[in-house]
Amino acid sequence: MTGCLVSVALVAVLGLSPAPGCGGLDKLDQRASPSQSSVRQALAGKVIVIDAGHQLGNHNFPAEINRPVPAGGFSKPCNTTGTATNGGYAEATFAWQVTLRLKAKLQKAGATVVLTRKSNREDRWGPCVDVRGRAGNARNADLKISIHGDGSLASGAHGFHVIYPSDRAPWTDDIHEPSRRLAQVTKDSLVRKGFSVATYIAGGDGLDERSDLGTLNLSDVPVVMLEAGNMRDRGDAAVMSSATGQATYARALARAVRTFLR
Ligand SMILES: [Zn+2]
Repeated sequence: MTGCLVSVALVAVLGLSPAPGCGGLDKLDQRASPSQSSVRQALAGKVIVIDAGHQLGNHNFPAEINRPVPAGGFSKPCNTTGTATNGGYAEATFAWQVTLRLKAKLQKAGATVVLTRKSNREDRWGPCVDVRGRAGNARNADLKISIHGDGSLASGAHGFHVIYPSDRAPWTDDIHEPSRRLAQVTKDSLVRKGFSVATYIAGGDGLDERSDLGTLNLSDVPVVMLEAGNMRDRGDAAVMSSATGQATYARALARAVRTFLR
């Protein structure tokens, strides 16, 4: 899990049709084809990791996802089930759909895209936070974005927030500053697309610095975790479960990547 305030104007514009099902890929490195390469090369040579958070089937594998794994100086469960809208639309599926859309946009711009899971299936589990955290380290990726939806039951809680790692040696002192910058451009890009910052996160500026997340702590490359909205909020849920809403998130994230790497 991880929250989204959407402007009235945006909600009015977005369609509410449920997103299509899921596809599959895992740990794929996909380079743009020559024909795509000729389209636009703004991100040529860049390596970008997209972490689609929780696998859809995690709730079917409690022993596997509860296994402790390294998380940056302490242990945490491998993964969690993630949340869902009150209507049952899973966070895992939301993250997966935005991931596929973002991946296509980045590849079209010439980037190499690495995914931390290759499918969105009820009969699969993971990936553990240590695997997600280290993804992209070996190949010195340019940045990593982890995509989530939050599940706050607080009254009226809605809106998005972007989480980045604290300045904590020896884990994240090296990536704190560029990650904070990536968080800021990600927030600015989402606001520009009509999304509003979370109403329920301390600070109220849509940014959240944390030191307790393995996905951030084990990264050696600039990383942010997006809580795109609060799936328990009716307005956010409508946007997050719609194809139009998911496409808008992907456009905002692609723009953030371009801005950060410019
Ligand atoms: Zn999550």
